[in-house]
Amino acid sequence: RFIQMYSDVVMELGKSFFEERIDAMKERKGVKQDVELDANDLKELVKEFKQIYLEKQGEEFPQDPKEQLIGAVKAVFRSWDNPRANVYRKMNEIPYEWGTAVNVQQMAFGNSGMRSGTGVAFTRNPATGEKKLMGEYLINAQGEDVVAGIRTPSPISKLHEEMPEVYDQFVEIAGRLEAYYSDMQDMEFTIEDGHLFMLQTRNGKRTAQAALQIACDLVDEGVIDEKTAVLRVEPKQLDTLLHPQFDAAALKAAEVVGKGLAASPGSACGKVVFSAEDAAEWNERGEKVVLVRLETSPEDIVGMQVSQGILTVRGGMTSHAAVVARGMGTCCVCGCGNSNDVVIDYAAKTFSINGKVFKEGDFISIDGTTGNIYEGQVATVAATENANLNRFMGWADKYRQLQVFANADNPHDAQQGSDFGAEGIGLCRTEHMFFAEDRIKAMREMIVADNTADREKALEKILPYQQGDFEGLYEVMGERPVTIRYLDPPLHEFLPTKEEDIKEIAGELGITVEKLHNVIDSLHEFNPMMGHRGCRLAVSYPEIAVMQTRAVINAALNVSKKKGIKIVPHIMIPLVGEVKELKFVKDVVVKTADEIIAAAGVEMKYEVGTMIEIPRAALTADEIAKEAEFFSFGTNDLTQMTFGFSRDDAGKFLDYYYENKIYELDPFAHLDQNGVGKLVEMAAKLGRQTRPDLGLGICGEHGGDPTSVEFCHKVGLDYVSCSPFRVPIARLAAAQAAIKFPR
Ligand code: PEP
Ligand code: MG
Repeated sequence: RFIQMYSDVVMELGKSFFEERIDAMKERKGVKQDVELDANDLKELVKEFKQIYLEKQGEEFPQDPKEQLIGAVKAVFRSWDNPRANVYRKMNEIPYEWGTAVNVQQMAFGNSGMRSGTGVAFTRNPATGEKKLMGEYLINAQGEDVVAGIRTPSPISKLHEEMPEVYDQFVEIAGRLEAYYSDMQDMEFTIEDGHLFMLQTRNGKRTAQAALQIACDLVDEGVIDEKTAVLRVEPKQLDTLLHPQFDAAALKAAEVVGKGLAASPGSACGKVVFSAEDAAEWNERGEKVVLVRLETSPEDIVGMQVSQGILTVRGGMTSHAAVVARGMGTCCVCGCGNSNDVVIDYAAKTFSINGKVFKEGDFISIDGTTGNIYEGQVATVAATENANLNRFMGWADKYRQLQVFANADNPHDAQQGSDFGAEGIGLCRTEHMFFAEDRIKAMREMIVADNTADREKALEKILPYQQGDFEGLYEVMGERPVTIRYLDPPLHEFLPTKEEDIKEIAGELGITVEKLHNVIDSLHEFNPMMGHRGCRLAVSYPEIAVMQTRAVINAALNVSKKKGIKIVPHIMIPLVGEVKELKFVKDVVVKTADEIIAAAGVEMKYEVGTMIEIPRAALTADEIAKEAEFFSFGTNDLTQMTFGFSRDDAGKFLDYYYENKIYELDPFAHLDQNGVGKLVEMAAKLGRQTRPDLGLGICGEHGGDPTSVEFCHKVGLDYVSCSPFRVPIARLAAAQAAIKFPR
């Protein structure tokens, strides 16, 4: 085993050459398990192994322990930079520069006989959080054997029968470790000739469900306080509570073809693929897949990440597949070969369980909560409520200082955000309303209009739709702030590109095909992201801002009256880079709004603010704040403009930047604190210098990213706004930031 592992881990020769020899030896001897080979067989294998090493490496296997030790230590340091580590770091936002450390410890031999063994255990159930020791061990084995899942281990409770005194000692130590760390522990141990050795302990990875259960239980047990409990759940993990489960009715009709271990909860339905590479490739093509493997190993991480679910033939609840899937919050059923008749053929890309054959691309459904495996597609439904979630989120809300808003463009999304706890709408992208089937025609009429009167006529058609949309939002949100961002996209986006569509639309608009072509040509931009969009549209065509203001103010007046509430509309002007530009549009807004409000004969306040999306706006934020009552950082554009990367195209080359560690994380997902963040911080400060009560928020994608939320808290923003499903994540991230960095 030492030669094999040293060759694999230190010299990177792989293990397959050695495995083949072991298999051949077992066949010659007519035995099934490695442990059934005797000392002479092993001596023979050692000779063969050394020969393989000599052939592959061109030198004798090193016999000097110091050389072996240094080789092993170097291998650990080297592992910091292997592809899996890079994937893992990216996923967990761990900076490359941290580096790793090496522990050298004395070996304990779990494979020295039937009074020896090795295992892994958790002080509480890492899938459900239940307060009960859970683990597995193998007699006469080393750690590798448990993790690799090649032999199926026994539950820890069985150790009570096999070695009662060792079991009692283990239970006592597990209790002591949990009390010391005041958290659920994940422990590895080895028994050598009846002596128990603890190899390591760490806070155990757990499902979101378990994390909530454990946090609540530890509070109830008086072990930790609420603040500590809030810090104990990974914000991103809440995602898994929001994941689909099988529809109960569909499940009744579904045929169970087999059962494995319920390793990581949730439900998955997808097409069968047999390798991590295929999983990644099929996913790229937009297919939903379930990865079916004998067992998984760290090389499979990328494929596991993109799979709906993972099904393995071998391995127990602490096997690689189980532990990793649980960490990812991905549904996983493992060890289905343990109790079913399973044949998997990687070459033929087939898998059969109890006689039912699945070919690559066939649908399979798996339930990580029960371990059931179903043929075909089983319908899924959105996640049901978790009994501990409200209580836990109540603690989070108690300690957070940032408000959390949702980005929502329609009443449905607003309701979704509100259900998840959004305290307002931080961004309503009105262009999404213009794109709707029934109004794009009026929009096109407006675009092809060559005079203001025609443009106004077209806008008049859009007005009732817009007003209806806004009324819907106000109905849902009541007096909570609803921030309506004025039209932003370049106009060409509303026009057709295909010749047949151009012909048809020209007909609809009552203009010649030639004229429509002319309009399209005139709107062509080399870089539309930096083109005629945002407030630039309202500068060219103030009538658009007039129409949008009428829609907003009338909607607010109507709903205020109907509901007997006081709505304060928040009007947000996008893509501003210069205070005069903002003032120009604001004057249009204020004139229109004041006229409507005066005519209505009621009191209504409203706010006009801007997005900070252009570096120049951040640099001149003190001036901008003279005209803006609030800033909302549009960090999607601000990132694009600061890096000079097109937000639509940067993906094409960013991989090279990650490979070369120029950038480690996608700046469109995680706020670049050193660069873009500096602009945010500076603009916030400059803005508040001019206007101490300036409202400050963020509505770019970063508003739902936990580390970016922490940054927003630190620089003193008032709120973050993100997509509805990320609202709970942002609430928790905001609470953790407030607890770690009170302000
Ligand atoms: C932004 O730029 O961050 C933003 C929220 O606006 P959009 O994504 O619509 O450009
Ligand atoms: Mg923007």
